[in-house]
Amino acid sequence: MPHVVPSLKIAFIALFVVLFLFLSSYGAQASFTLEDEKKLGKEFYEKLEKSKVLISNPKINNYLNRVGQLVLASSPKAPFEFKFSVINSSAINAFATPGGYVYVNKGLINLCENESELAGVLAHEIAHINARHIAAIIEKSTKLNIAALAAILAGAFLGGGGEVTAALASFSMAAVTSMNLKYSRDHEEEADRLGMAYLVSSGYDGKSMLDFLKIMRKYEFYSKSVPSYFLTHPGTDERIRYLDGLLQVRYRNIGKESIIGGLTRIQVYLRFIGKNPELKLTYFQNSVQANPSNVDALYGLALTQEKLGLTSESIKNFKKALTLSPSDGDIVRDLGITCFRSGQTGEAIHYLSRALSLNPDDSNTIVYLGRAYQAEGRFQEALKILKKIENKPSIEADAHYQLAMAYGETKDQGASHYHFGMYFKKIRKKDSALFHFKAALNYYAAGNPKRQDIEKEIEEMQKEKPPKPPSPGDRNATAGFSF
Ligand SMILES: [Zn+2]
Repeated sequence: MPHVVPSLKIAFIALFVVLFLFLSSYGAQASFTLEDEKKLGKEFYEKLEKSKVLISNPKINNYLNRVGQLVLASSPKAPFEFKFSVINSSAINAFATPGGYVYVNKGLINLCENESELAGVLAHEIAHINARHIAAIIEKSTKLNIAALAAILAGAFLGGGGEVTAALASFSMAAVTSMNLKYSRDHEEEADRLGMAYLVSSGYDGKSMLDFLKIMRKYEFYSKSVPSYFLTHPGTDERIRYLDGLLQVRYRNIGKESIIGGLTRIQVYLRFIGKNPELKLTYFQNSVQANPSNVDALYGLALTQEKLGLTSESIKNFKKALTLSPSDGDIVRDLGITCFRSGQTGEAIHYLSRALSLNPDDSNTIVYLGRAYQAEGRFQEALKILKKIENKPSIEADAHYQLAMAYGETKDQGASHYHFGMYFKKIRKKDSALFHFKAALNYYAAGNPKRQDIEKEIEEMQKEKPPKPPSPGDRNATAGFSF
């Protein structure tokens, strides 16, 4: 699998270690229970998360999960909490592990022409999970695979120097082909039949499932390498004929190409991950040239130019995109942020206020609008805006910092010390955090619930073991800290 990122290979090894331990403790006749599925799926997910191959952008994940849940709602209830994740790899692949975990590579999402095609891929994977195909493979081939796995593991771990990479490559290839999982043709037929039923009853166009298989096959032809997807899901030509037949006989109604909406915007965010900025610039420039009224391409171009410091070009393209799509919250917000970063605080306030009315809960908009007001010396307004996120559980370090500044400027020293305390806690500067929490206590009388919160924070921090005993220099630094 030449396109797979190295950490993914490590993750596959992790899966194998997990599988190996599972299988060794089971023996030949053991059955693979639902609980085993959940445990294995969860362990694999945690390994992937730890090795940082999963994309954590909330917009991307939210979108994929909404499409996935929509398809799931039309499938019989499986005994799993389904989770849909995006893997940061350009290889064209999607796979499911036991326990309700569906993974789609960035490369596959970028290849989709519409949402329905993506929904078709998810439907097929959901069907593999619902029909417990992987569990069946594991149950059937326990003995053989333990021996095979042991050999593969030895090969992977005993190699040295440059050999390790090659061993890992062949190992992960083996992982895909032998375990994860070469479905049989019967499995594929069942996953297509069930998946198509889920897809169509959730309102999507059934033909997209067929269209996307053809797109992947074409891609395979041009790229001269077999997409990873076909290694796990065999029999492409048969599948195409089968799906064609199903569509002609059973599913003749045309469904929707898009239900959730915004795939092209998600693709802009995906293209933003990982690649170097110059490559992105060329990509988006070409897209705009091919179609000057492509809002998403203009938006991507503007974002890239901002990252490269080409501020005036960036603002120009944001404004063009906005003319084409005037109430697009993402564009208004990012135009506002770009104005703020380039020192145009008045313009920033104008656009960020508009972004806030379009999307009142967006933390980024709130933090930048607060910063813009502060930069203009409008501290009361800054505080009023920033208070909107004050009690959110997921508030980030930067937001605490802005709140601390705004409270400081409006002479609420207690709240200011409290938010500085939270800021330093989040960036793991324990001494500074304790200094501010203790200072904050002076402003809240006994019995004030805020005082109890702060005392709890102090108690928790003091319970943590310090990484090393503080040196006299550290103590002085803390004592001399002022703000
Ligand atoms: Zn399949």
